[in-house]
Amino acid sequence: MALHTLDPDWRIRAAAFQAVERMVARHGPTLRWEDIAKGFELDGQGLHLASKAVGIFRPKEMVGAALSIRTSMPRGNRQARYQDEPLKDGAFAYKLQDNAADNHHNRLLRQAREMSAPLIYFFAVEPAVYQPIWPIFIRDIDSERMECMLSVDDSVLAMQERGVPMVADSKAIEIRRQYVTAQAKRRLHQARFRLEVLRAYEEQCAVCLLPRPELLEAAHIIPDREESGEAVVPNGLSLCRLHHGVFDTDLMGIRPDGVIELSRKLLDTQDGPTLEHAIKPFQGQQLHLPKRREDQPGRKFLEERYERFRSFLKVG
Ligand SMILES: [Zn+2]
Repeated sequence: MALHTLDPDWRIRAAAFQAVERMVARHGPTLRWEDIAKGFELDGQGLHLASKAVGIFRPKEMVGAALSIRTSMPRGNRQARYQDEPLKDGAFAYKLQDNAADNHHNRLLRQAREMSAPLIYFFAVEPAVYQPIWPIFIRDIDSERMECMLSVDDSVLAMQERGVPMVADSKAIEIRRQYVTAQAKRRLHQARFRLEVLRAYEEQCAVCLLPRPELLEAAHIIPDREESGEAVVPNGLSLCRLHHGVFDTDLMGIRPDGVIELSRKLLDTQDGPTLEHAIKPFQGQQLHLPKRREDQPGRKFLEERYERFRSFLKVG
């Protein structure tokens, strides 16, 4: 059973996924509504990816299941959205539309579930800023609680599951889906962290002041795989991709007073214009820090990381 025999819209769906992939490659992990609203093209025709009016969306060119869903932003303070934690039992929970589980839009989700059609989930991380998550599948629809459970998948697995249904081991798929969904949740936290850190640094690299957000990343001072590596702004630095790499590999250290220190090994190397012009000149310079005190790097994070940089120097 091939994909297109199940989903009459498979060409549009595949084109939409590709379009989102290109947008993420171009703009970074989070997309502004104005970019999503531009939609995508297929056979010279413009199609929409999502709708501003409704959360559950199917473009008029499609006949089957929904193409995308979108969260609306909870009103109120920023804290509210952290309490609105979308993940439970290894899945995202998504509220159905209005009060009727069987209304037109909710039926588009039911259809997606019956056909195992993959959707795009535009998850709001801030007003008018979304992280797209795809492909995402409707796992369950709970009409009583008016919500559905979504799990993320990777496309290869999704194709396998639909292409060879008898061979697929459903338990293995479930475990895999839980893992991929947890990874998606992690990326969601990263996306929020990145937005907050970049904003604190006015969308510039703390080392070189490069002002291109698409080339900026939020570095963790203490890596997030470690217990003290929290995803909070004082544990973050806005760095361009180059300086993030130099920092992460401990070729560059930051003293607790914010002065940049390059490893001796690096300073002694003579190797082309990048090193000479984009790395070495920052030796002994002061890091550019956020104006707001509460956004500045935490002393304990800097001390712990600098300690590591020093011990790395001794070994390296
Ligand atoms: Zn930089």
